Amino acid sequence: MKADKNHPSTASPATAPQAKGFSPGFAALGLEATLLTTLETLGYEEPTPIQREGIPPLLAGRDLLGQAATGTGKTAAFTLPLLQLVAHAPRRHPSALILVPTRELAMQVSEAVQRYGKELRIAVLALYGGQAIGPQIHALKRGVDVVVATPGRALDHIRRRTLELKHLHIVVLDEADEMLDMGFAEDLDAILEQTPASRQTALFSATMPPRIASIARRHLKDPVEVKIAREPVKAGAAPRVHQTAYLVTRPYKVAALARVLAMLSPKSALVFCRTRLEVDELTAMLNGRGHRAEAIHGGLSQPQRDRVMQAFRAGQIELLVATDVAARGLDIPHVSHVVNYDVPSASEVYVHRIGRTGRAGREGAAVTLVEPREQRLMRNIEQLTKSRIEIIAVPTVADLRAKRLERMKASIQEILAAGDLDRFRVVVESLTARFDPVEVAAAAVKLADRSQGGERAEDEIPAVRGRNDEAPRMARRPPWESGERARSAMTKDREGRPQGRPSRGGRSAGMVKVYVGAGRTAGVRPGDLVGAIANEAGINANVIGAIEMTDRFSLVDVPEELARGIIEALGRTRIKGQKVAVRLFHEKEKA
Ligand code: AMP
Repeated sequence: MKADKNHPSTASPATAPQAKGFSPGFAALGLEATLLTTLETLGYEEPTPIQREGIPPLLAGRDLLGQAATGTGKTAAFTLPLLQLVAHAPRRHPSALILVPTRELAMQVSEAVQRYGKELRIAVLALYGGQAIGPQIHALKRGVDVVVATPGRALDHIRRRTLELKHLHIVVLDEADEMLDMGFAEDLDAILEQTPASRQTALFSATMPPRIASIARRHLKDPVEVKIAREPVKAGAAPRVHQTAYLVTRPYKVAALARVLAMLSPKSALVFCRTRLEVDELTAMLNGRGHRAEAIHGGLSQPQRDRVMQAFRAGQIELLVATDVAARGLDIPHVSHVVNYDVPSASEVYVHRIGRTGRAGREGAAVTLVEPREQRLMRNIEQLTKSRIEIIAVPTVADLRAKRLERMKASIQEILAAGDLDRFRVVVESLTARFDPVEVAAAAVKLADRSQGGERAEDEIPAVRGRNDEAPRMARRPPWESGERARSAMTKDREGRPQGRPSRGGRSAGMVKVYVGAGRTAGVRPGDLVGAIANEAGINANVIGAIEMTDRFSLVDVPEELARGIIEALGRTRIKGQKVAVRLFHEKEKA
């Protein structure tokens, strides 16, 4: 147990102040009113399992060892208690440090801290490699409450004495297995050894290999252990439903949902979301696209819910958009489809949701939208439910058009079989006197297609890159993460600009081209370059853009801030057994 002076705000569940109108779910965990109000505003209806089990011990000042993957709600599980602690600590000296493996996660977590800590006016700063250090130093000097950092950059600041650790009350290691995979073990030890012995420590990891147990033994004191979703769902508990998952990045999820629903054209579907806000937004979007959709969530009054349910049962509504909490208490009739707009935070929730379809021997289908980072959670669900869930790309516009025409063909065949077409024959006969009958029929099909939105401009949804269906894990620590190496390797080009940061012009924002002196003649394929970059530079293949190949050389679009690291890493390696020239490519060279 930690010294209580660090936890002036700790409230036992019994004495927790209740936010007015808020479901007791979060309030019962001991969170204070300001945070409960924020959660209410965000539309969170109840805690996820990792939050229910992780928040109370963290609020009580205990160290925590949590096994939970992305998508389980683990960020809020540590951020909410951390904020409650930080809010009552002296301000603007970092009192909380969150260590994460990647720059993307640093940004995501710092956004989450900002979102949950908005009412508490918490100042948060993300520190990661590949970003100029000057502005980071300035921000640290101005004073922050919470620092979210990758270990290499955190250590760099500690050595420069720009990041102070002596006021830290709490340290969180997020995605610890990833940090170890990337070679950050020594950096983590070095950082933790310099933090106050009285600090509270939480470690989260999707997997618990012995190396994690060892780091926990060294740095955590008598931790409470929380494991989520370890118990397989009982045999036979998972319904027999055809399950599919579509891989899509967050900005395109709404468009992907619209596309998937247009493909499936479900008779009746339940669309599940995590929050009330999402439920409202999606319902509005779906109605705007011509679906008959209604929202159902904890924010509705009983008469409102009754009205929606009556309309759904009567078939006046085809899509019911719901949160888990709202759906739980409802007697919902059989639906043809269950759509998970998000991967549910726990396997049991997934099983419960898809159990709404495929009942009593009827056919059912469940579809789930999966963000690249949630693939592991999806695989966990697959393992625990012992069912196969295909993860595939979102249908393309061409797929959608083909499907629509296929459906139309089936409908026309039905109409032909039913007969009773005399009223329409006159029109056709007068037209066939002047036009080819096949052309006449094609024009009628076009007209019908248009009336079904066939000519609507469809949103572009980029395919998510990834090898073997999984976003590749970072193979090892990115070379530019190390402050030492990054500084010594900092070279300038002839104009005196640091390499990897050329002037802008003639390219997409944030992306630059890397020249690789080997092309088709050397037998190089785009996959070789993606593989070499992902493995040698420790880059997630998803961030690599277009690859142009010529006989002699190749050009690879990469994010500007990663270019230097990629060039260094590729320069050290062999491509198809050859050492090749690798450098930044300037658009003007093309001319
Ligand atoms: P994480 O596992 O921390 O990456 O969280 C996954 C997503 O779930 C994030 O988009 C959160 O905003 C959301 N989320 C976390 N907790 C809850 C909750 N209790 N209710 C609804 N959404 C949540």
